[in-house]
Amino acid sequence: MLPNQIDTIVIGNGPAGVCASLGLAGYRPYYRGVHPDPVLHAELFSARHVPLTQMPVPAATPGMSARAGNPVGRFFDAVHHPVADHGGRHAGCLELRHHPERAVNHLVLGSGQPGGSWNRMPPGMRTLSRGYWMELPGLTMEEWGRSQGRWPGSHDPIDRAEVAGYYGDLVERMGLLESFISGVTVTRAEPDGDYWRVAGHGPREGDLFTLRCRRLVLAVGMYDRVKRLGIPGEDSECVTHRVPAQGEGPLLVVGAGLSAGDAILMARAQRRPVIHAFVDDPEQCPMARLSPDIYTDYYSVARQMAEPVTDGYEPLPGTRLVAVDPDGTCHLEYPAGRTTRQVAQVAVLIGSLPDLSLLPPDMLEVEDVIPTDRRTFRTPFAGLYAIGPMAGDNFVRFITGHGFWAAADIAGDSVATSTPRKSASLN
Ligand SMILES: Cc1cc2nc3c(=O)[nH]c(=O)nc-3n(C[C@H](O)[C@H](O)[C@H](O)COP(=O)(O)OP(=O)(O)OC[C@H]3O[C@@H](n4cnc5c(N)ncnc54)[C@H](O)[C@@H]3O)c2cc1C
Repeated sequence: MLPNQIDTIVIGNGPAGVCASLGLAGYRPYYRGVHPDPVLHAELFSARHVPLTQMPVPAATPGMSARAGNPVGRFFDAVHHPVADHGGRHAGCLELRHHPERAVNHLVLGSGQPGGSWNRMPPGMRTLSRGYWMELPGLTMEEWGRSQGRWPGSHDPIDRAEVAGYYGDLVERMGLLESFISGVTVTRAEPDGDYWRVAGHGPREGDLFTLRCRRLVLAVGMYDRVKRLGIPGEDSECVTHRVPAQGEGPLLVVGAGLSAGDAILMARAQRRPVIHAFVDDPEQCPMARLSPDIYTDYYSVARQMAEPVTDGYEPLPGTRLVAVDPDGTCHLEYPAGRTTRQVAQVAVLIGSLPDLSLLPPDMLEVEDVIPTDRRTFRTPFAGLYAIGPMAGDNFVRFITGHGFWAAADIAGDSVATSTPRKSASLN
């Protein structure tokens, strides 16, 4: 039985939602240690009795990752994983302290189990990141691995299936379980006076619920809504928008991102012939930008994209899929003409977007974008926060900070920058 009124609801139970829950449960990150960047160390050491969430976010330094999109994400990562981008492993420089008096009554709603999209990653694939980059404060990956009795180390990428297990155990170990409601899907969230009304279904078939809360945090990630080509035949049975874990016969992969790389690697491991249509420059595509030492397999795909046909892999550079017939005939266009290929399956892997269809459409400025303050994670709508991709980051290393900062703002103990608020009422 769900309580029908609660202070804060977090929608999404992936790593961003888990960190928001840690913050809402009263956990705050503090500086501990000697950071290898002497400037950052001096700044943090003088404020070591204050939670990081109460400090002004320092300006970027050369020691901070240039890969983060959000200043909070970048700062938090620099303290959590010093020198990570340089391949070194330095002990994390933060600790969590619990302030029960700061706790905010909250629920985390998720369509699957805690860990979010990590529960749905294709089996048998490794993380793109080093294993320990996937960790959240409160439990190191090493510690967790040892507790499982089967851990070789986490400096290298780890099996994606491990990651969901780690998040689930962290939720339990940090005492958050009673705030997590799994197997529920929120279909509508709308302002209702000073409150937000949140409606959805699950966990059992036929269950419907409506909740009211004062603050709502969107931590929906961007796994659920795949981009589509919008071409004839895209809904055919032979077309998928997910990495096919199993299959037989020739596969046409469309796209040149990391998911396309996953699909090619999995298909080749199963000895399926692969035809690969892409428009990106092979030297600039995401696979080519990964470190060849760590991601040898993706890197070799990027190289093959620029080479002639090899046994079982046919690259079609500068080529667009324009239609698919029900029998698997694919109509392709390239600058100099048209061609066709007959395949058993087509995997259209051209990216994904946050699914904000639960919000009233007039709240979204441009299609599916909601502006978010990059330090408080407030949106222009009173009581509504957004963390993760909408705030500029999608890697676990960086979204970890978003959750803590949003929670501190909700609990009223952050250095909030003032964001002009639109009335929650849309009338
Ligand atoms: C193939 C692949 C490999 C990746 N590898 C890496 C990697 O190596 N390193 C890395 O840092 N990142 C990686 N990522 C990105 C990774 O997924 C994100 O970093 C991270 O999971 C985002 O966390 P999140 O909490 O924002 O969202 P998610 O993990 O996506 O969790 C959000 C959850 O909320 C649920 N949800 C959404 N809307 C609703 C709703 N209306 N009602 C109920 N529940 C809802 C979703 O179903 C989802 O389960 C990878 C992504 C993919 C697709």
